[in-house]
Parts: sequence; structure tokens; C-alpha cells
Amino acid sequence: MRNKATQADTGDIPAVQTRGLSFTWPGQQQPMAFPDIDLNPGDHLFIHGPSGSGKSTLLNLLAGMILPGAGDIHLLGTRIDALRAGARDRFRADHIGVIFQQFNLVPYLSALANVTLPCRLSAQRLARTGNQAETQARQLLDQLAIPEDHWHRGVTRLSIGQQQRVAAARALIGAPGLILADEPTSALDTDNRDRFLDLLLKLAERSRSSVLFVSHDRSLAQHFHQQIALGESA
Ligand code: ADP
Ligand code: MG
Repeated sequence: MRNKATQADTGDIPAVQTRGLSFTWPGQQQPMAFPDIDLNPGDHLFIHGPSGSGKSTLLNLLAGMILPGAGDIHLLGTRIDALRAGARDRFRADHIGVIFQQFNLVPYLSALANVTLPCRLSAQRLARTGNQAETQARQLLDQLAIPEDHWHRGVTRLSIGQQQRVAAARALIGAPGLILADEPTSALDTDNRDRFLDLLLKLAERSRSSVLFVSHDRSLAQHFHQQIALGESA
């Protein structure tokens, strides 16, 4: 375990604190019950579990896309499950960077425009780049080893590995308090996977963003400060 990083703007308020969370999809006989999560600002948590154990459901709960059947979710001091839908969307835009399994990049935008997008949707994210979204996007793409002659290309013309790093840059821009990642490494070979994770976590550390990363692949746990398992019956 490492030092408990503290974030200047959140003090000792946990990045994530959940209690007694459960969720039931239509057609499910039993609610899925999730272990409690305590994640300190700047820390990196790995959550592993087999396919179907509820990893994506949990991330959707934490992102405020769906509401728990029971339990509560505090993110950066805000109880997000008590917010109305519009306020949850606002909170997500301001404070959460999401890396989806399929990346969900906007296909008709360039790599650079995909990365700056969160700053066009959130004045707070823009302000945290010092109102220099494009400059920070360029720095991130450079740090994530996307060649400069690819920055203005439509993202569909990039390789899978490059698309994944563009998705990471989009999550990192404007230093969100929390980055949620849903198995974004499953399409990569082991070397690229380890390189990607090291880079993502190093850049998250620089912006003091907490990271919560889910995957079925337990061998990724070594990169993280903490880990939690979801069982088959979670
Ligand atoms: P994981 O990401 O670990 O593979 P999921 O959260 O996607 O797990 O799924 C957990 C359980 O919830 C599975 O049984 C799955 O079939 C069910 N589930 C997930 N999404 C939906 C949905 N949109 N509608 C109904 N059931 C769903
Ligand atoms: Mg999933």
C-alpha cells in the first residue's frame, strides 16, 4: 500500500464511498449486491470479477447512469444517488472521466476534438485546463504517444490501441476527481496492456484523479493500490 494521497480541492473527503449497494435488472430473480467501496483521493482501485458478475452495472451506478435499488453512493462529498437526473448528468460531466470498453469515441470528430469534448460540456473541466483545453489535449496525446500527424484524423482511422489512448486522454483532460474504466484493455496484447495501464495511472496521478478500473483479468491487479473482488453471485 502507498501513501494516502490527498487532493488539494477535496481535502480528506473520499473520492468514492458506497454503502449497501444493490441493483436489480428487469428479469433478474435476485438483486445484485455489491461490496462497499472506500477510495481515497488519488488512489487507484482495481475491481475484478468474471463476466456477468456486475462490473459494468457497478460502474453505471457510480457514474450515475442508473440508480441503486438500495444503498447510497458518495462521490467527492456528493451523494449522487439523491440527485435528480439533470444534476447527475452535470456532476458526471464536471467530475468523472469514463473510459468505456468500446471507447465510445465520436466517430466523425478528430482525435483532438474527441479529447477536448469534455471541456466543451463542462465549464469546470475547461477551467481546470487553465482555459487551455486544446493545449492540454495536445500534451495528453503527446504523452500517450499518439503521433502528431494523427491528431486531426477521424478517430475511426486510428488503430485500436490508439483509439484506446485517445479515450484515456478524453477521460484525463480537465483533471476529473474520478476516472472510471470498464475493461478498456481487453483488445490489447499483454505488453501493450501493461504499457497502457502504467501510462494511464501515471497521468492520473499527475492530475490527482482517483481511478476505479474493472476487469475480469486479475493479472492487472499488480498495477493498483487496492483491489476488490466481485463474485459470481455479487
Ligand atoms: P460484467 O460487466 O461483470 O460482465 P454486467 O454488469 O454487464 O457484468 O452484468 C451483470 C448481470 O446483469 C448479468 O447477469 C447481465 O445479464 C445483467 N445485465 C446487465 N445489463 C443488463 C441490462 N441492460 N438489462 C438486463 N440485464 C442486464
Ligand atoms: Mg462488463
